[in-house]
Amino acid sequence: MEPLPFINYLRLSITDRCQLRCSYCTYWREWRQLPAPEILSYEELLRIAGAAAAVGIRKIRITGGEPLVRRGVVDFVRKLHHVPGLTQVCLTTNGVLLGELAEPLYEAGLRHLNLSLDTLRRDRYRQITGRDNFQEVWRGLERALDLGFHPLKINCVVLKGINDDELVDLALLARDHPVQVRFIELMPTFFRRWWDHHFLPMDAVRRRLAGLGPLRPRSRSATAGPARIFRAPGFKGELGFISPMSKHHCGSCNRLRLTASGRLRPCLFGETELDLKTPLRQGASSDLLESFFEMAISRKSRSSPFPTSDLSLRGPSMVSIGG
Ligand code: SAM
Repeated sequence: MEPLPFINYLRLSITDRCQLRCSYCTYWREWRQLPAPEILSYEELLRIAGAAAAVGIRKIRITGGEPLVRRGVVDFVRKLHHVPGLTQVCLTTNGVLLGELAEPLYEAGLRHLNLSLDTLRRDRYRQITGRDNFQEVWRGLERALDLGFHPLKINCVVLKGINDDELVDLALLARDHPVQVRFIELMPTFFRRWWDHHFLPMDAVRRRLAGLGPLRPRSRSATAGPARIFRAPGFKGELGFISPMSKHHCGSCNRLRLTASGRLRPCLFGETELDLKTPLRQGASSDLLESFFEMAISRKSRSSPFPTSDLSLRGPSMVSIGG
């Protein structure tokens, strides 16, 4: 059996609030936002980041919900850059508030930015997200390009029958700009039938992009996630393919996740969660916090919980876990 990869990446969900209502993300009809006191304070998040760095986490991605809706996020980003041991601070956003926050975030030291954008059409954006914010997101992307965030990655969840006629147009963003456009397989977050209907495997996505020419693979960095990265002829940027469904990547998964309510998850789709908030609020020492990370790392498994008869996400929703 192959050795597990070194676990060096933590996704930190700082809020479960989001302005958008993406159809694939969360079963919004049943979703209830956490009461504010249930969400970890920035001080608590910084302590957790310190404990994570002490056990070998090098990369932290701030996520949500939508991280930019939380007040004080810019200051948090600045402070996170000063946590000893961390070498990469990244943020994932839907981009709605990026136009106004890109510059303060850049000044706070942020360079690694992921923007979620599944379509280039305003009406379709409204259909997917339930909100009419395409123009704000586009302005945010332009602002981020002007400021020179790098790497700047655009995450597109591929939805058969909804946005799969735009795959080439989305890919061409990486021809015209120094961005990495990443196509992500749809994961089954709640309704199995919806997933069956809209799932498109990454091999099919690759075939649809064949007209872009031969894709040259790029080598992976130590903190790289499961994306396979390529460059197409004449492109300023790159293309990435993420296949959580068709190609299990548990054996190379280097990440842990902390939910907005302070629960540490070794696996996105597993059932294990370790409560960090209770010990934290009872005055846990740094050693104790570190031991929770060691426990979570030891519980990472090589084999995915897929496929199961019940494919849906167990426990909290994607909007709380942070993707
Ligand atoms: N609001 C931020 C954003 O939009 O990037 C961060 C949170 S969002 C939950 C993180 C990522 O999870 C997004 O790129 C989103 O597209 C992805 N995601 C959510 N549900 C998904 C699903 N069912 N399958 C694949 N990706 C999903």
